[in-house]
Amino acid sequence: MQPSDAHRPQTRAVHPSVETPAGSRPLGVPIYQGHLFAFDDADALAAAFDGPGAPYMYGRIGNPTVTAFENAAAELEGGAGAYATASGMGAISAVLLALLRTGDHVIAQSCLYGGTWALLRDLRERWGVEVSEVSGDDPDEVRAALRPTTRLLYLETIANPMTQVADIPALAAVAREAGVITVVDNTFAPLLCRPLDLGADIVVHSATKYMSGHGDIVGGVAVFADHAVYRRVWDHAVEMGATADPFAAWLLVRGMATLPMRVERHSATALELARRLAAHPSVENVHYPGLPGHPQHELAGRVLSGGYGGVLSFEPAGGRDAGRTFSEAVRVARLAPSLGDTKTLVMHPASTSHRQLDADALAAAGIGEATVRVAVGLEDPDDLWADFEQALAKAAG
Ligand SMILES: *Cc1c(COP(=O)(O)O)cnc(C)c1O
Repeated sequence: MQPSDAHRPQTRAVHPSVETPAGSRPLGVPIYQGHLFAFDDADALAAAFDGPGAPYMYGRIGNPTVTAFENAAAELEGGAGAYATASGMGAISAVLLALLRTGDHVIAQSCLYGGTWALLRDLRERWGVEVSEVSGDDPDEVRAALRPTTRLLYLETIANPMTQVADIPALAAVAREAGVITVVDNTFAPLLCRPLDLGADIVVHSATKYMSGHGDIVGGVAVFADHAVYRRVWDHAVEMGATADPFAAWLLVRGMATLPMRVERHSATALELARRLAAHPSVENVHYPGLPGHPQHELAGRVLSGGYGGVLSFEPAGGRDAGRTFSEAVRVARLAPSLGDTKTLVMHPASTSHRQLDADALAAAGIGEATVRVAVGLEDPDDLWADFEQALAKAAG
């Protein structure tokens, strides 16, 4: 409808003309906050129901700002398609629920993100999906776990908080031979690792972390090597309503533009702090894939390139109390969950994220009572080190 002089003011207020730029186009990505698109005839609207690639119609099905972020993520990971979601768990849920049915079997790394394990447990208990655990760096273990019903292998490039590195090329090769889809959560290593190049089929990210990089949105994305698998997940995700919000997608497009510099800086500062912590008299162990003493340092060199990521963990001498005291004593770094923020974030898993586990259960998860997780930010490394030194002095009593 065109507003015209024939209409009353309240009708004209509801239908302002919407300009489509002609003769020039926006260089940055506009925020398409409106969720509806209009058509000139019913056939054109009917065609818009056909799915991704069809004209935009309704915000849950597609939005140009969200597509811009999906295109950036697909380029980053070298995929044939990407689907952006309201959170990292939205991407993980969309992939698992779209591709699994009752009786299917999943092989998953033991050290996966807690939310992913909670979802896998739920799928097992309520939906009859079977799940086996593997360490993540032994192809024979995956081969032994294979069943005729195995559909998915699920890994994380670098795991939290002990920074285990998955042998993506070796494990994905075993899965591929058996016709099993490999999913890799690459949240900890955007740019440093391209799992699709290493043989994975799907990459998921909590875009809340490094892709956003500024701690200001919650979002996620799944990137697919194969367009048919993308389309299967897309159909289900649209039913689930996992859709990303245009404003979050716009902030993600902005975050992606500085991802290369941020990842480089997070990694360089993390390596520097890991080295200094390893040399400190009141630190017992440091876990960082960039240190030669890390059990998978050599593997990390094959799976990662350009750095080892921004997350490290360590055990101050003095057990549980020392870990907790350190996490509360920092002044430049902050006691907070999450990672990939401009600010350095520290957490003592035994007293926070893993508080339900006693010493034995913590040990079984490979986590120490004293372990402190550090998600390195973008501050000056010397300021961070001075902060850590004073917090270590307090932790040592
Ligand atoms: C944070 C995180 C998630 C979950 O992402 P949300 O955006 O919080 O839903 C999944 N995997 C990993 C590795 C994470 O760190």
